[in-house]
Amino acid sequence: MILNKPKQRHYDVVILGSGPAGITTALELSKDPALRIAVIESGLLEPHPTIRTLANVDLNGDFPPDYFPMHTQRCFGGTSTIWGGFCAVLERRAFTAQEWPIPYEEVDRWYPAAAEIIELPEKAYRQPTDAIEGTSELVYKPFYLSPPVRFNEKYHAFFQHDPRVDLVLGTTGTRLVSRGRRVTALELRDSLAPRLPPTVVSADRFVLACGGVGNPRVLLLSDLVGQMPVGLGLMEHPHLYAVAQMFLDRDRLPISTEKDPRVVHALQLADSYCIERGVLSFSADFNVEQMAPTVLLGKRREMLLTPVTLRTEIAPDFRNAISSSDQRDYLGLPLPRVDFHYRYRDLALEGWQLFGEALLRSGLGRPSVLQPEFKIRDGGHLMGTTRMGHSMSDSVVDSNCRVHTTDNLYVAGSSVFPAGGASNPTYTIVAMALRLGAHLASLSGGNAHG
Ligand SMILES: Cc1cc2nc3c(=O)[nH]c(=O)nc-3n(C[C@H](O)[C@H](O)[C@H](O)COP(=O)(O)OP(=O)(O)OC[C@H]3O[C@@H](n4cnc5c(N)ncnc54)[C@H](O)[C@@H]3O)c2cc1C
Repeated sequence: MILNKPKQRHYDVVILGSGPAGITTALELSKDPALRIAVIESGLLEPHPTIRTLANVDLNGDFPPDYFPMHTQRCFGGTSTIWGGFCAVLERRAFTAQEWPIPYEEVDRWYPAAAEIIELPEKAYRQPTDAIEGTSELVYKPFYLSPPVRFNEKYHAFFQHDPRVDLVLGTTGTRLVSRGRRVTALELRDSLAPRLPPTVVSADRFVLACGGVGNPRVLLLSDLVGQMPVGLGLMEHPHLYAVAQMFLDRDRLPISTEKDPRVVHALQLADSYCIERGVLSFSADFNVEQMAPTVLLGKRREMLLTPVTLRTEIAPDFRNAISSSDQRDYLGLPLPRVDFHYRYRDLALEGWQLFGEALLRSGLGRPSVLQPEFKIRDGGHLMGTTRMGHSMSDSVVDSNCRVHTTDNLYVAGSSVFPAGGASNPTYTIVAMALRLGAHLASLSGGNAHG
C-alpha cells in the first residue's frame, strides 16, 4: 500500500529509502508471506522542490557545485528516475585481491535475477567478457544497457497492491534509536511539516538504503559510529570523456557485424594484468562507425578509428569522506559535509599508457596519443562510505551487510562496496540487495543475527 505515514507501529523489516537498493531488498523479502515490510521514503511520487533541498550537502573539494543537485533524486525510485542504464558486472580482480571480504561467486550468483529486474540480456551475466585472440593483457568487456528501468514506474503497482508491503512517502528517517546492540526504533519526520514533532516506527530489523551519502549520514546522526570508519573512503568513477582516439583492428574484435543498440563496446586491461602490475581497473569505450587509413607496425591499412571515453577506478582514500557539517537543513538536521579530491591525474595517465602499450604489443591497434590532455568528470556513482570488511577497525558492515556494532541494522547500496572497480554500480547494487533480502528472509522467525 502507498501511504503518507506508517500504518502500524511495528514491522518485521523497515527499509529506509526507495531507490534500486531499497526496492529490490523489499521485493526479495516480500517472497516470504509471513513478513510485514515498510519502505520509508523521504520524497513523494514526483520530485518536490522543497524536499529536494534535503539532499543538499556542504561541499568541499573537486566535485562541481551542481554535482549533488544533478546526481540526487529525493523521490520514489531514487536516482533510478534519472540513471543512464549502463551496466556491467564488477571486475573479479577486486575479489581476488581480497578487497571484498566475500568470494566473487557470492555476488555472481545474484546477477541473473538482477538482470531480470533491470531488464538486461542474458549475455550481461553469461558472458560478461570475451578473450581477444593474440593477447592476454586486454579483454573485450562491453556495457549492456538497461532500457533504463525506472524503479518507480516498474514497481508502483507492486506497492499499490501488496497488502504486506507499505510504501510510506514524504517521510524522512532522521535517527535510529538503540538499546545495547539492538536498534529498536527509527525516528521519522514529515518531510513537508518541519514543525510537527517526530514519530517513531519500530522493527525487528532495519535496512538503510539511502544512497552513498544518505547511509553514512543516518549512522552519523544516530551516533552509531564508534571505532568504525563511517563515511570514510568515498569513491567515484572518474570519467574521461573523448580523452583520445584509437585505431583498432576490427577483424580481431569479438563483436558481431550487426549493430546491437543495447551494447556499448569497451576494452579493458585484463584482471590478471591489473593484479600482476598492481593497477586499478580501467575501461575504454569505443564505437564501430568509422574506418580510416593508418600505419600500424610498419604496415599501411584500414582500421577502425574511434574516440575513447575512459571509466576508471579509484582506490578508497579515507581523506575522501562524509562527515557532519555545522550547516543544517530545514528539518534542523546537520547537512552532510562532503570532502572529496580525485588525486587521480597521474594514475589515469599511467593507466592510459599501460593500456596503449598493451594495445600496441597485441597488434590490435594503437592510441592516437599517450599523454593526452584531459579533464576528469564524475559519474554520479558514490561508493564505499559504509564499506564491507572483517572487523570494525577496517569497515562498517560485515559480509552480510550488517553494521558491526549492532545485531539488527543492515546497509544496502554501493556504500558497502570496499572497492568499486570500473563498472557502473547499479547492476551490482541490485544483485547485492537481492542477496541481502534473501539473507534477511532466512533470519525471519528467529532472532539470530548474521
Ligand atoms: C545522472 C545519473 C546517471 C547514472 N547512470 C548510471 C548508469 O548508467 N549505470 C549505473 O549503474 N548507475 C548509474 N547511476 C547511478 C545510479 O543511479 C545509482 O547507483 C543508484 O540509483 C543507487 O541506488 P540506491 O538505491 O542505492 O540509491 P538512490 O537511488 O540514491 O536512492 C536512495 C533513496 O533514499 C531516499 N532517502 C535518502 N535519505 C533518506 C532519509 N533520511 N529518509 C528517507 N529516505 C531517504 C532518497 O530520497 C532516494 O529515494 C547514475 C546516476 C546519475 C545521477
